[in-house]
Amino acid sequence: DSPVGVLALQGDFREHADVLRTLGARVELVRRPEELARVSGLVIPGGESSVMDKLARMFDLFDPLQAAVRAGLPVYGTCAGLIMLADTVLDGIVGQKSIGGLDISVRRNAFGSQNASFETDLQVPELGFAPVHAVFIRAPVVETVGPNARPLATLSDGRCVAVEQGNLLGTSFHPEITGEYRFHEYFLRKVRATAFRH
Ligand code: GLN
Repeated sequence: DSPVGVLALQGDFREHADVLRTLGARVELVRRPEELARVSGLVIPGGESSVMDKLARMFDLFDPLQAAVRAGLPVYGTCAGLIMLADTVLDGIVGQKSIGGLDISVRRNAFGSQNASFETDLQVPELGFAPVHAVFIRAPVVETVGPNARPLATLSDGRCVAVEQGNLLGTSFHPEITGEYRFHEYFLRKVRATAFRH
């Protein structure tokens, strides 16, 4: 049984690893291409997308990550991880790239400085009736959702903050820090259903 990876270049990868282990998954922290090549799924954590992007390129992981996503590796990105998975990044730093895969545009730091961090309860019909308590930390918003992607949750003002597309899942917020396991369970179901081979 191959492990589930957590991209561990930067950000809150330990929290994701803890949730995945609690759910019974074997976890591989991914910092090198050899580690990526072992995993059957990958979580890209929250952190700072521009830094994660630079580190991924420095560690020769960017191209293997992109190839794996294109080949159908199940990937779940939270916050900075969602930015990494977006085809289009708005308000990125100069030269910032994303791995892409999700047919969306995301705007970084979309909630401005005053309101940069906040918490709210969201309905996520795909995960059942109980609301998701969502923590947003200098979070991005999904500004446009293309025809290949599907919104999973919106704020009360209608802005989209969770999406999926095939084996890719992304949230603007951080279930890994609130004891909310349903997104990781949902992701692990994709991992098991896919049994991805590199
Ligand atoms: N603002 C960060 C970025 O642009 C994301 C913040 C987060 O991951 N909590 O990557």
